[in-house]
Amino acid sequence: MIDIDKIRADFPILKEKVNGKPLVYLDNAATSQKPQVVIDSIVNYYTTINSNIHRGVHTLSQVATDAYEEARLKLQQHFNAKKSYEIILTAGTTHSINIVATGFTSLLNKGDEIIVSTMEHHSNIVPWQMLCERTGAILKVIPMNYEGELLMDAYDELLSEKTKLVFLNHVSNALGTINPIQEIIDKAHAVGAAVLIDGAQSCPHLKPDVQALNVDFYVASAHKLCGPTGVGILYGKEEWLNKLPPYQGGGEMIKQVTFEKTTYADLPHKFEAGTPNIAGGIAFGVAIDYMNEIGFDNIAAYENELLAYATKKLLQIEGLKIYGTAKNKTSVISFNIGDIHPFDIGSIIDKLGIAVRTGHHCAQPIMAFYNIPGTVRASFSFYNTFEEIDALYDALVRAKMMLS
Ligand code: PMP
Repeated sequence: MIDIDKIRADFPILKEKVNGKPLVYLDNAATSQKPQVVIDSIVNYYTTINSNIHRGVHTLSQVATDAYEEARLKLQQHFNAKKSYEIILTAGTTHSINIVATGFTSLLNKGDEIIVSTMEHHSNIVPWQMLCERTGAILKVIPMNYEGELLMDAYDELLSEKTKLVFLNHVSNALGTINPIQEIIDKAHAVGAAVLIDGAQSCPHLKPDVQALNVDFYVASAHKLCGPTGVGILYGKEEWLNKLPPYQGGGEMIKQVTFEKTTYADLPHKFEAGTPNIAGGIAFGVAIDYMNEIGFDNIAAYENELLAYATKKLLQIEGLKIYGTAKNKTSVISFNIGDIHPFDIGSIIDKLGIAVRTGHHCAQPIMAFYNIPGTVRASFSFYNTFEEIDALYDALVRAKMMLS
């Protein structure tokens, strides 16, 4: 069960006013808000234990190192990785994907095939296109139907012994579709391909078990999970992380450096060159604890209620059309009203204190599929309320009146 009053009291920003109106924050798919415990952990870090990690003998450095490594252990537990060193702390999903995409340059040959889907975020398209340019590999795309669900028969046809990699988001940021990743992973493995799942949009709503999924790589960003920006994870199976070359050279990622030859550090440090976002990593661990305390089953159940309520309510507005009507979806509603430009709707309801996202949501192929310039996207989190959905509805009715 969600104790909504208690939860809302944990998020100081929810008391803010925007344009003189109480903030109604419905842009959670872009980034989540942060509870006080996460904010406190960042302040505490800089106030009491700030120092560089992994290299100091002095006490503060050791305390900071322990706190940072404890966060890694929390993440290992949360994602159920077999080994803590399979959790690489990165700057976020985009960084994690680029580590893998760059690493595969030396592992692919001309004519090898890579599969992505129509509903990817640009950060799960562009790095693979760049990889194809470097290697001569070919990018294939799983199509989707009008509801925003992948066409699995087409996926079966794309798979062959030429397929080396499959990259897919667990949940689409623009549509909310939850993809059948277990089937995708199992079928890719049957032809010997590795799979990377982009969990940027799934992790705020569900708890992935990387061992049960048997996935090769799983990536996510802390900032969508009540944590800070600039930190994320790359989970990789040990065998894959050993096969991939380092992404960046620098301090922290070496065993020994001479001008003749440098040897690389063991996992996870091989992929963690330079001073990391120490406060961010620690706060990521605090955020994961916070969400687990609420419980992902409770979060999903409550968000599903919000989604059902909002879907029914918004569809009462004449001319409102929802894009992404998959049976299995998270609490995201992407829509347009008639032929009103999404930007105009977003700007008007912003004046009423309501924050939604408008545009292509870094998923232009989806917009091309529907032949629209973009959508208005309202995305709900476990700290949103039914009253906020009513406020969104009222604001949309007003916007529609003004713009029609
Ligand atoms: N993939 C998906 C599905 C996303 O929604 C996002 C963020 N909008 C990203 C990747 C990129 O995440 P980040 O900007 O945190 O690197």
